[in-house]
Amino acid sequence: MGFKLPELNFSYDALEPAIDARTMEIHHSKHHNGYTNNLNNAIQGTDLDSASIETILVDLDMNNKALRNNAGGYYNHKLFWNVMSPVDSKELSGSLLDAINDSFGSFDTFKEQFSKAAATQFGSGWAWLCVMPNGKLDVCATANQDNPLMPSIGCVGTPILGVDVWEHAYYLNYQNRRVDYISAFIDLINWKVVEDNYLAI
Ligand code: MN
Repeated sequence: MGFKLPELNFSYDALEPAIDARTMEIHHSKHHNGYTNNLNNAIQGTDLDSASIETILVDLDMNNKALRNNAGGYYNHKLFWNVMSPVDSKELSGSLLDAINDSFGSFDTFKEQFSKAAATQFGSGWAWLCVMPNGKLDVCATANQDNPLMPSIGCVGTPILGVDVWEHAYYLNYQNRRVDYISAFIDLINWKVVEDNYLAI
């Protein structure tokens, strides 16, 4: 039993020049691998060792720092790899575009809000596009490896898109220019996957 490091759908250099191969390799094979192993260590021999990652997060004891950091880190990066694509056909359309227009007024306003949430998250963390319990979409940000599935995080809903704004996600290429990294990330978004995530809720 236990969680496995997810394989990427593309090679480490596939997202260049937006995200460089060395950053991708370290991020996936070291950081995400570390969260995965530490998550497995944290649940081994407990009644969570066959639970789904979503169940672990929703029922999380927020005082359990090892589980909070590593269950978050495992889930967040799994979503992150899936919502990026080197392929050019990434047009947003259909029901997700309708929902974005309905919730934010326009796609450009959504992009502004998402970019701002990611840029202004102080220190390490993530920005999210979530489906709230009422079905509306919302943008929010969380610190460290927290995410909106966790209880009482001040950010409610099921994430369908997330961007990692830890320095390990961009520093080799962008140094302190987080805004440029966020802008490059937005151009990598695989909207087909995000729409699939939306439709699966
Ligand atoms: Mn990361």
